[in-house]
Amino acid sequence: MEFGLSKEHEMMQSAVRDITAEYDKAYWQDVHEKRRPPEEIFEDLAEGGWFGAPLPEEYGGQGLDLLDTVVILEALCEGHAWETTFRFTMSTVFGGISLVENGTEAQKETYIPGIAHGEDVWALGMTEPDAGLNSSRISTFAEKDGDEYVIDGRKQWISGMEFADHLLLVARTTPFDEVDRKFDGITMFIVDPEADGIEYSEIPLDIYYTEPTYDLFIEDLRVDEDQVLGEVGNGMYQIFGMLNVERITAALSGWGAGKEALDTAVQYAKDREVWSEPIGAHQAIQHPLAEAHAKLESSRTDLRKAAWQYDNQVGDVGEVSNIANYLACKAAWEACEAAMSTLGGMSASSEMGVSAAWGVARHQRTGPVSEEMILNHIGQHSLGLPRSYNE
Ligand SMILES: Cc1cc2nc3c(=O)[nH]c(=O)nc-3n(C[C@H](O)[C@H](O)[C@H](O)COP(=O)(O)OP(=O)(O)OC[C@H]3O[C@@H](n4cnc5c(N)ncnc54)[C@H](O)[C@@H]3O)c2cc1C
Repeated sequence: MEFGLSKEHEMMQSAVRDITAEYDKAYWQDVHEKRRPPEEIFEDLAEGGWFGAPLPEEYGGQGLDLLDTVVILEALCEGHAWETTFRFTMSTVFGGISLVENGTEAQKETYIPGIAHGEDVWALGMTEPDAGLNSSRISTFAEKDGDEYVIDGRKQWISGMEFADHLLLVARTTPFDEVDRKFDGITMFIVDPEADGIEYSEIPLDIYYTEPTYDLFIEDLRVDEDQVLGEVGNGMYQIFGMLNVERITAALSGWGAGKEALDTAVQYAKDREVWSEPIGAHQAIQHPLAEAHAKLESSRTDLRKAAWQYDNQVGDVGEVSNIANYLACKAAWEACEAAMSTLGGMSASSEMGVSAAWGVARHQRTGPVSEEMILNHIGQHSLGLPRSYNE
């Protein structure tokens, strides 16, 4: 069993660090205060081809695997650029991985190069107000009409709609009451976010979140049948592979928020003196930081392991991705909590950036999958306990 990074991994880390080193704390403070996308660093990452890291070379990607990608995302997080990892999940994973796993040759040729070159942003339209985490109950419906589908419904919490060039929309093509298995009859569509038939409005947020998120109202949206991704009626089974990858990359966003908060707090604990020694000398400050470090480092290994299992299709990739997500997001939240206590009043300041990380880390415990649903899954499928809820 090999735990060390390869020479290639070190080269990737160093190339990413060269980019993140160009963006200082003042840059990220400006991004937080204006709640704006960090377009400048996105451009540098696009130029370096990093959005195409796990996408095939024949479509403009770098042809790396998911473990390599995790190492790259870790380097972004450690270079204070953890917020860029969300855009990576949206475009490279929602768009790129879904296309790699399910696209036709024509779809791959059309869409992957734009993602790999960092030109196209994707969004995922899965969640609905009346279905929540019970995605078998989505009711947005696509009705076949000649060589088109006509789609009606509602989506909620769809991140990045305003910037997105493409939306991966998940809809029913057979009503829930008419299917044998609850996930039958669901289909993925590639949709133009600005098409007639889609309206969206931003959901006001009190907490900081990196990408703005939207309510979607869909009425008489006409989509050509060529825009179906994967097989009609089989979309939910086909999207699971991408969702496992999302578990890993989204957890890295939470992990990065936790790491950022911890690094800021450790420096503060060394510098801040209110009695005769730095506050980091007090065990009540030091131990939670040390514990946070231990848990973040341990969950780094879990995330790498999950990525390796995905790359090699070994074992239960769903289970290991869920476990890594659960542990990393919880570790991130605890790191942010420890950082808040360490910074005292300064934890509320935008100068330190810890409040922003804290809000994001908390939400990564709920989305893309909540820790309650992960524990339900582990309880039922890994431990063989009775299912704790009904359809
Ligand atoms: C900022 C933000 C960005 C997002 N971006 C996207 C996006 O781009 N695309 C997209 O499709 N979605 C997106 N989402 C949606 C996100 O994935 C969901 O909010 C998340 O999956 C939780 O769903 P819900 O809010 O409907 O929770 P609900 O299903 O209403 O559940 C509420 C709470 O009850 C718990 N619960 C529910 N059922 C059970 C049970 N059986 N056992 C135990 N506990 C249970 C849940 O764990 C949760 O804590 C985003 C959400 C947010 C807040």
